[in-house]
Amino acid sequence: MNGLKGKKVLVTGASSGIGQAIAVQFAAEGAHVAINYRSNMIEAEKTDELVHQVLDNYYHDDKEHGVNHFLVQADVTKEDQVIKMVKDVIENFGGLDILINNAGIQMAGNSHEITLSDFQKVLDVNITGAFLVAREVIKYFLSQQKPGVVINISSVHQEIPKPQYLSYAVSKGGMQNLTRTLALEYAKYGIRVNGIGPGATVTPINRAWIDDPIRKKEVEKHIPLGRAGTAEEMAVVTTFLASDDAAYITGQTLFVDGGLTLYPDFATTWSSQ
Ligand code: NAD
Repeated sequence: MNGLKGKKVLVTGASSGIGQAIAVQFAAEGAHVAINYRSNMIEAEKTDELVHQVLDNYYHDDKEHGVNHFLVQADVTKEDQVIKMVKDVIENFGGLDILINNAGIQMAGNSHEITLSDFQKVLDVNITGAFLVAREVIKYFLSQQKPGVVINISSVHQEIPKPQYLSYAVSKGGMQNLTRTLALEYAKYGIRVNGIGPGATVTPINRAWIDDPIRKKEVEKHIPLGRAGTAEEMAVVTTFLASDDAAYITGQTLFVDGGLTLYPDFATTWSSQ
């Protein structure tokens, strides 16, 4: 993809799943990657190792690719840690061009029984965390008078309600206006803000069904394309939106969902019979 080689990228929550695949995909495009993790350094090191492997496969020689990659610890819900993370990444890379707001959690429960603290926990990571990191990164872009890119990893639940996951659905609904408002506010500075909306994707967040063939089949029955997505499929669309190939796109969420946002129940003509 155009314009990614040599770019400096920060990926939050990159120690597993979609964030891990995004870090690897950016490295494959020749971008420098800062791999954020909250607490599990061993998992994050796995991402670093995969980045290393992909660089070996693509470039064969460390000197040839010149790609810098490193781990950076921070809990995105903690303002002081976010400020330090962004500062450290900028110092280490000598700049920053692209932020991928990927860190996210979900918690299940009947909506009338959710405790305030559980409700806030999800909003803190998915929305407040994304806001805090975007704020620090945009502040830097502005201070340098340079363009930049923010990509928010949202969800089909930005649009589709999710019973028993109220806080998640509220957080991803909020992400739509995080993306659109930042996009509008900073377009005049050449800063683009977009999102991707993954559908059901095979990653650890879906522990409940990914390793159970029967439950997986049950999930996939609801998806028009008949299967769950892969983290790599989410990553490639993310790198596209961050690249110069998407230079005229801002404020959009691109759903990567096998058709889940197409109202699959309307695949038959039941409503007109
Ligand atoms: P995942 O659980 O593998 O990844 C989430 C990552 O966020 C983990 O690495 C976790 O450590 C990190 N994280 C959580 N809290 C954090 C914090 N406070 N600070 C820093 N990092 C933190 O799951 P995933 O599926 O790869 O999820 C990635 C993103 O994709 C999430 O935002 C999720 O909502 C979104 N998404 C996933 C799916 C799916 O089906 N897998 C669908 C739609 C959207």
